[in-house]
Amino acid sequence: MSHPITLIPGDGIGPEVAAAARRVVDATGVRVDWEVTELSTEVILKTGQALPESVVESLERTRVGLKGPVTTPIGGGFSSVNVALRKRLDLYANVRPVHSLAGVATRFQDVKIDLVIFRENTEDLYSGLEQEVVKDVVTGLKVITRTASIRIAEYAFKFTDSVGRKKVTAVHKANIMKLADGLFLRCCREVAARYPHIEYKELIVDNASMQLVMRPETFDVLLMPNLYGDIISDLCAGLVGGLGIVPGANMGENHAVFEAVHGSAPDIAGKGIANPTAMMLSSVLMLMHLKEMDAARRLQSAVEKVYAAGKHLTADVGGNASTNQFTDAVIAAMG
Ligand code: ATP
Repeated sequence: MSHPITLIPGDGIGPEVAAAARRVVDATGVRVDWEVTELSTEVILKTGQALPESVVESLERTRVGLKGPVTTPIGGGFSSVNVALRKRLDLYANVRPVHSLAGVATRFQDVKIDLVIFRENTEDLYSGLEQEVVKDVVTGLKVITRTASIRIAEYAFKFTDSVGRKKVTAVHKANIMKLADGLFLRCCREVAARYPHIEYKELIVDNASMQLVMRPETFDVLLMPNLYGDIISDLCAGLVGGLGIVPGANMGENHAVFEAVHGSAPDIAGKGIANPTAMMLSSVLMLMHLKEMDAARRLQSAVEKVYAAGKHLTADVGGNASTNQFTDAVIAAMG
């Protein structure tokens, strides 16, 4: 059986890392019908559509996407297409596993980091509701709902339970945002009460940031609203060697879109030096979602072998291999 998958290369380093991920998925022997769709700054500006219908139509058909990053203009311009896609397909759970990878030199080499971030993906300060009330006075709406908070908490606890993890830490700022983050916490507690065998803790986001840097090995599953999830994800990526290696999944009831934590990295785009590991490990999550467990295991283990050997690593993790040389090494390691 062949799996129909929507491939969205994106822009910046997206096309380079997406091509690498496609090659390694094909090399697993799993049969895939790739539907390649264009989603990039260029297409958005040309069509005038924030989220081209062709992309949504393809994902509605295939239900599974592998997506590269798309640049979001800073301080003006069009709204984030990444956010628009998550909202449009109601991809409410952003799941980001963060593991130490043997062979990557980091400041935390002597510590085993193995945590999973569950980030609410549809609301919070990402609502895009901002207005200039009077000149030089701007307000932005933070939207927290019971529906969205309960479902991300349920998703996180269900996952924790199913894989035998032990502890969920909810991250918040309910001492200041008493109503908004207060509601988020109440929902987390309500769901936690249904899982008495799973340890449940709460940490204020500033303290959580410090604890993650000082004692990253004590964290297991992290559960948080959208904005904290964005920031904490990059912090955690920094603990294990940077954005080049951390994968992610955007999960909804009916669709799943797999994408790296990193953005379009315009500073290194087009140079052939981007690290495709994050996209490859996102592909591992995708293969697991497709129940192609053997292929997922083989790809994961090939990536691990290349890191352990340390001969074909990209510059961001201390090597001097190109994106293609790293990809060739992963394919060779698959045997
Ligand atoms: P966004 O806000 O769109 O998520 P960002 O602000 O997090 O983006 P990135 O585009 O992810 O920024 O890049 C941050 C830094 O990490 C840049 O210096 C970039 O070169 C580096 N980086 C990101 N991804 C990779 C990668 N796959 N390989 C090598 N370096 C990367």
